[in-house]
Amino acid sequence: SVVMERILRRRSLQLRNKQQEWQESPEGKKMLEFRRSLPAYKERDALLNAISQNQVVVVSGETGCGKTTQLPQYILESEIEAAHGASCNIICTQPRRISAMAVSERVAAERGEKLGESVGYKVRLEGMKGRNTRLLFCTTGILLRRLLVDRDLRGVSHVIVDEIHERGMNEDFLLIVLKDLLPRRPELRLILMSATLNAELFSSYYGGAPTIHIPGFTYPVRSHFLENILEMTGYRLTPYNQIDDYGQEKMWKMQKQAQYLKKKKSQLTSAVEDVLEIADFRGCSLRTRQSLSCWNPDSIGFNVIEHILCLIVKKERPGAVLVFMTGWDDINSLKDQLQAHPLLGDPSKVLLLACHGSMPSSEQRLIFEKPEDGVRKIVLATNMAETSITINDVVFVVDCGKAKETSYDALNNTPCLLPSWISKAAARQRRGRAGRVQPGECYHLYPKCVYDTFADYQLPELLRTPLQSLCLQIKSLELGGITEFLSRALQPPELLSVQNAVEYLKIIGALDENENLTVLGHNLSMLPVEPKLGKMLILGAIFSCLDPITTVVAGLSVRDPFLMPFDKKDLAESAKAQFSGQEYSDHIALIRAYEGWKEAEREQSGYEYCWKNFLSAQTLKAIDSLRKQFFYLLKATGLVDQNIENCNKWSHDEHLIQAVICAGLFPGICSVVNKEKSIALKTMEDGQVLLHLNSVNAGVPKIPYPWLVFNEKVKVNAVFLRDSTGVSDSVLLLFGGNISRSGLDLC
Ligand code: ADP
Ligand code: MG
Repeated sequence: SVVMERILRRRSLQLRNKQQEWQESPEGKKMLEFRRSLPAYKERDALLNAISQNQVVVVSGETGCGKTTQLPQYILESEIEAAHGASCNIICTQPRRISAMAVSERVAAERGEKLGESVGYKVRLEGMKGRNTRLLFCTTGILLRRLLVDRDLRGVSHVIVDEIHERGMNEDFLLIVLKDLLPRRPELRLILMSATLNAELFSSYYGGAPTIHIPGFTYPVRSHFLENILEMTGYRLTPYNQIDDYGQEKMWKMQKQAQYLKKKKSQLTSAVEDVLEIADFRGCSLRTRQSLSCWNPDSIGFNVIEHILCLIVKKERPGAVLVFMTGWDDINSLKDQLQAHPLLGDPSKVLLLACHGSMPSSEQRLIFEKPEDGVRKIVLATNMAETSITINDVVFVVDCGKAKETSYDALNNTPCLLPSWISKAAARQRRGRAGRVQPGECYHLYPKCVYDTFADYQLPELLRTPLQSLCLQIKSLELGGITEFLSRALQPPELLSVQNAVEYLKIIGALDENENLTVLGHNLSMLPVEPKLGKMLILGAIFSCLDPITTVVAGLSVRDPFLMPFDKKDLAESAKAQFSGQEYSDHIALIRAYEGWKEAEREQSGYEYCWKNFLSAQTLKAIDSLRKQFFYLLKATGLVDQNIENCNKWSHDEHLIQAVICAGLFPGICSVVNKEKSIALKTMEDGQVLLHLNSVNAGVPKIPYPWLVFNEKVKVNAVFLRDSTGVSDSVLLLFGGNISRSGLDLC
């Protein structure tokens, strides 16, 4: 150990020399000057002091004040200056992989180093970290995974949990785990960082930990709501006035009315159509979108955004534009549309960039760079540009008002949930992005009256998502009883939703009677997807039909690739029915549609194929890339053989596929009774249910199966099943999981 100490000492001195050298070099000096201009610098000593004297410190400060890039660096620098550099080990978590990557790159550059020297990052499936890395940026999921093998975080000196105001499920979960860990590791330091001022909540959770606020400065930003925007872009305002005082609810009525009018071939002004399109785009819950499926979700509101961007590019002073969209697919379709525009698609005038988690880092860098003179930078981003990524030269913000409420650790770009309204706090954050360098403008694509209905803060993810995956994780981390553990959360979930999750895990066989993890449960906990999808993947591997099953799982994670345009509904329905054939299965229709598309792609006719069959090429592409990720993941977890490159060995037997789908979707099951003129469907909890019109099983005279398994049901005036697959008694008995527990009456 004396030798060890000597080595550490030598390394620490090396680190110190290197740091000094950089800080005295011309570039280093320039960088230091910039860093000292950030608001966080004024608080540097106070921050370091508080951290050395308290085990937990909460830090708040406006976005861009230097929390993420500076604070971890201050700790690292001060340790290095004190010649302890080699023995400190700082972990800073980020809710998203892209911010972990971008921030680590920035911090390495600020230290005059390459990534992987003293600063590194690690995200799922990727990382850049060396033997001498002392400051590691990682996703929250990565730290949770590390806790799985190293419960005391041995060797870690500081844990910094960033962006806690977002209240992601993983972050809330991590806070409980760390709270348990702190007494066992008295020398460990925990720093929580937040962009909003509600730091008190976190402080009191850790027994009154001190809070430090970094005061910031932003320029005023002018807000334009939809009503002003329509005026500005030259739309006629008259029809819009009719919905002036309406809240969200009433907009739906208006939409229905419009639908009716459209049916009657009545004249609608383009303004009403676009307003309604926007409303649909952002306001629709799953069910309303279904009942109003005439509005094509792929082209919504884009025209208004295009108008605003044109106005800015033509008339406004210099400055970058940041457009907040809901997700990857919106961003891509909008980008396609804008690229085809004569002005916005002209690269000598506009630098159009998309910003999402899986983009290559070369493109990522462009986002932060200044464009050439006379070129307007337009960045299309998701809500990650709200707080975790700072683009310096933004003067104009376009805010669509919605965000996808995804869970952070799930495979990225997997929009399981649909967009919903953001909170007032988030809208404020978005607006604030325009005022960093000079007074700015923000265009909200929703009326003021809708803004007034937004919640103040977004509900923590823990309180609004199913807890099944989380409960599995609690068990696999051996954190004790699920209910007891979750009752200690910052804002504990309802007991009932915990009980539901535990019961569900017992029914599918992931937990035994005593809430212990089964072998299946253990395997499921290693896959970062919903348990039902994980179970399908595992059984797909076991029964050698992984290729088609992966398509189903990817399809259920992305969204339905079948398009149902309002005016061609009959044609679209029969196109879909052809894929299902005699199988009475939406899932098998999906597999066949996907496989047909792959075939057509190979013959360079993918586009015509999609056109002919009413399929969304976008969605199929997203399914395709997710499939690749699943295969990678299954290999990484050892569930399938490393050498499986050739998928031809996988079975495509449809009975087998049906059985595996049944095993995954159970207990999502309803009984089928064919009557003279209709079919009666019943589930355990709801009684009578109906099939959604887009299902291949809707409208058939007879379903020759006693059961249908389904992935999702939605309640409108009645309960509708979205997609379903027919299964026989024997398949249900053999593949259904814990049938007696589910309370299903097989007689
Ligand atoms: P916070 O975490 O408080 O929101 P950051 O530490 O992310 O703030 O950013 C502080 C400042 O550092 C920003 O205002 C910006 O000026 C600068 N900055 C951050 N990332 C980059 C980058 N990739 N390139 C250039 N400057 C950056
Ligand atoms: Mg930050």
